[in-house]
Amino acid sequence: MLELRPTCENCNKPLPPESTEARICTYECTFCAACVDGILHNVCPNCGGGFVPRPVRPSQNWKGDNFLGKDPASTKVKHRPVDPAAHEKFTEKLRRIPPEKR
Ligand SMILES: [Zn+2]
Ligand SMILES: [Zn+2]
Repeated sequence: MLELRPTCENCNKPLPPESTEARICTYECTFCAACVDGILHNVCPNCGGGFVPRPVRPSQNWKGDNFLGKDPASTKVKHRPVDPAAHEKFTEKLRRIPPEKR
């Protein structure tokens, strides 16, 4: 089950479970869309993979107790801002390779 982390790892912007701005990599590293597009170049600073929009868990119990009321979002903040210069260097080549070919 996704953790639904509460903030952007880089800028600490709140990303509540219903946010449409949350982006995740396969390891669930979580960032806001502005950081992914403007700073990260769609390269995860932790694994080098790409990002996709994080799905929204239903807030209501539509079926089988599969909803936020039973499985709430994580409250554990992971704030580990990237070093912009280091990330530029890290992504020099990577950003030109589409995520499915990395
Ligand atoms: Zn951000
Ligand atoms: Zn990652």
